[in-house]
Amino acid sequence: MLQVQRIAQKSLPRAGKRALRSGSWQSYRGLATASDPYDVVVIGGGPGGYVAAIKAAQLGLKTACIEKRGALGGTCLNVGCIPSKAMLNNSHIYHQTQHDLKRRGIDVEGVSLNLPKMLEAKDNAVTGLTKGIELLFRQNKVDYIKGAGSFVSPTRIAVQLLEGGETHVDAKNIVIATGSEVSPFPGGAIEIDEKQIVSSTGALELQKVPEKMVVIGGGIIGLEMGSVWSRLGAEVTVVEFLGAIGGAGIDDEVAKQFQRLLSKQGIKFKLNTKVLSAEKKDGKVYLQAEAAKGGKEETLEADVVLVAVGRRPYVEGLNLEAIGVELDNKGRIVIDDQFNTSIKNIKCIGDVTFGPMLAHKAEEEGIAAVEFLKTGHGHVNYNAIPSVVYTHPEVAWVGKTEQELKAAGVQYNIGKFSFAANSRAKTNLDTDGFVKFITEKETDKILGVHIIGPNAGEMIAEGVLAIEYGASSEDIARTTHAHPTLSEAFKEAAMAAYSKPIHM
Ligand SMILES: Cc1cc2nc3c(=O)[nH]c(=O)nc-3n(C[C@H](O)[C@H](O)[C@H](O)COP(=O)(O)OP(=O)(O)OC[C@H]3O[C@@H](n4cnc5c(N)ncnc54)[C@H](O)[C@@H]3O)c2cc1C
Repeated sequence: MLQVQRIAQKSLPRAGKRALRSGSWQSYRGLATASDPYDVVVIGGGPGGYVAAIKAAQLGLKTACIEKRGALGGTCLNVGCIPSKAMLNNSHIYHQTQHDLKRRGIDVEGVSLNLPKMLEAKDNAVTGLTKGIELLFRQNKVDYIKGAGSFVSPTRIAVQLLEGGETHVDAKNIVIATGSEVSPFPGGAIEIDEKQIVSSTGALELQKVPEKMVVIGGGIIGLEMGSVWSRLGAEVTVVEFLGAIGGAGIDDEVAKQFQRLLSKQGIKFKLNTKVLSAEKKDGKVYLQAEAAKGGKEETLEADVVLVAVGRRPYVEGLNLEAIGVELDNKGRIVIDDQFNTSIKNIKCIGDVTFGPMLAHKAEEEGIAAVEFLKTGHGHVNYNAIPSVVYTHPEVAWVGKTEQELKAAGVQYNIGKFSFAANSRAKTNLDTDGFVKFITEKETDKILGVHIIGPNAGEMIAEGVLAIEYGASSEDIARTTHAHPTLSEAFKEAAMAAYSKPIHM
């Protein structure tokens, strides 16, 4: 169990009480010696780490989780998924109230933005959820150690406690789940100050709606945060090096439609454009940019610049060198198909290793990693991990894109159904977008599902399930979907892939 040096000096009961009082480990259950180590210690309390810890405890393993942030939930709950979705939801309601309610027969006057209140609602969502994980830890008897972990040996971790002092934790098995951090602008040409030049973290905290905002990077995070501030009144320009928005994995056809719809909402795009540098002057930021392939330079003026060029694995302070955990040339911890690092008893999951940087991917890996530990079996289907962009309309996909299949020479069928022909979408006056199925020509097996439209993020779950179970589009087409629901568009797209839709 927990090895606290102070405790080793014969102050065990008091140390335990103190720990309980200060909450330095939430479910203090007595102390142990190095001869009675934890079965599992997880470093990092993000969605990968905290889920791994809870699962390990549920499997009967003596478990602790070390987290240095002072709050559980990692990037996702504190500065990622949750606060961004709070801002997306509330900015959407504000925008809809201003621009959409009239045509629905709802006259509202004097609508105004109370940004401090909106930020407070976001913060409350975060606090409620992070505290909820502490409760789950207590319920599942996971010891929560607040501090920064650093390897002393493959079975011993030194922890700099947030409340001061150092402790040592011994473990038979360790799971590294230290996540990722914002990638700096390449070459260091633009420095993030989190005020005028912000990362996604600063973009969640702006105290004033900027008049002009430039977003560098048209991936998911850039588009989500750009949408938020555009809805709240900023003139937003997204600058993207590539020729399409949406980032890796998005289907080309969906990306084009997505750009069209966001443009209609007032967001401007500069594709195939490379930002070179930034200069702050008289309260403004001036960006130098040029065509990605080289060419004439132009200057873009902004009040706030969001640098959203990606995230990178985070291993700082872990002292991996001391134990020889292998990293690849992108700084990711190298693992095998059972999440083992190059050191026998150390596993690794989530953003800090391979694969898409997504909370649900990290969670699945957390569960699988400790199941491998306990039972020798675990399961993550990397072909069935959905991606969602929480703009309006939402964009969601799972499986292969058309361009990937073309490149691989796979013969496929396409089935598409537009929300403009779906009764619920029409009733809701929310008809932008479509569902697109891609199926294997010979077998009708579903290879990919791509949705742009209302509630796409919820609807994609059916596509994930279909791929997980190896379903064909006929399987979906012959499954009853409630009427009137948006999910009928899903069914009809499946019908279109395998035969013909009814309503289009
Ligand atoms: C703005 C934004 C929006 C996002 N939206 C979504 C979304 O909608 N859906 C989605 O799926 N994903 C989203 N993501 C990505 C998601 O947040 C990450 O994929 C996810 O958090 C990764 O989980 P993780 O457990 O691997 O790492 P993290 O969540 O990064 O957690 C790692 C934790 O480890 C801790 N740590 C690091 N080193 C140490 C150490 N030495 N000792 C102790 N603790 C340590 C860190 O403090 C951190 O809390 C978003 C990200 C951002 C930035």
